[in-house]
Amino acid sequence: MEYAYDDQNIFAKILRGEIPNKTVYENDHALAFDDIAPQAPVHVLVIPKGPYMSLDHFARDASAAEHHGFMQAVAEVCRITGLEAGFRGISNTRTHGIQDVPHYHMHILGGRQLGRMLSD
Ligand code: 5GP
Repeated sequence: MEYAYDDQNIFAKILRGEIPNKTVYENDHALAFDDIAPQAPVHVLVIPKGPYMSLDHFARDASAAEHHGFMQAVAEVCRITGLEAGFRGISNTRTHGIQDVPHYHMHILGGRQLGRMLSD
């Protein structure tokens, strides 16, 4: 599979500081910020700082340090936002997954009882 990263996507612009964000947590390899259109009381996006398009791209090509930094950011988001009662992590991917922004991101959703995973 060829992954052609487009550095004009909105999350690349956030990483370059061209668009503001509400940062929840940041480390050397990942940034976590509030989703602009929250679907739950907690709706945070965790993104790698490297140019990865999707979960499978990141899983294949990211370094061990990038993987660790990303997962550390997920853990910190859960701690900071108080998700002891649970949450859902979602990574929509390409067409069938209905991915709108082609920079890998994990949605962290929680703060209320969520519905079942898929509606169709
Ligand atoms: P996707 O559909 O790609 O899984 O999710 C993209 C997410 O990015 C959506 O939940 C959308 O609300 C969010 N989003 C789109 N543009 C912006 C933005 O400029 N700032 C922030 N914080 N979130 C955005």
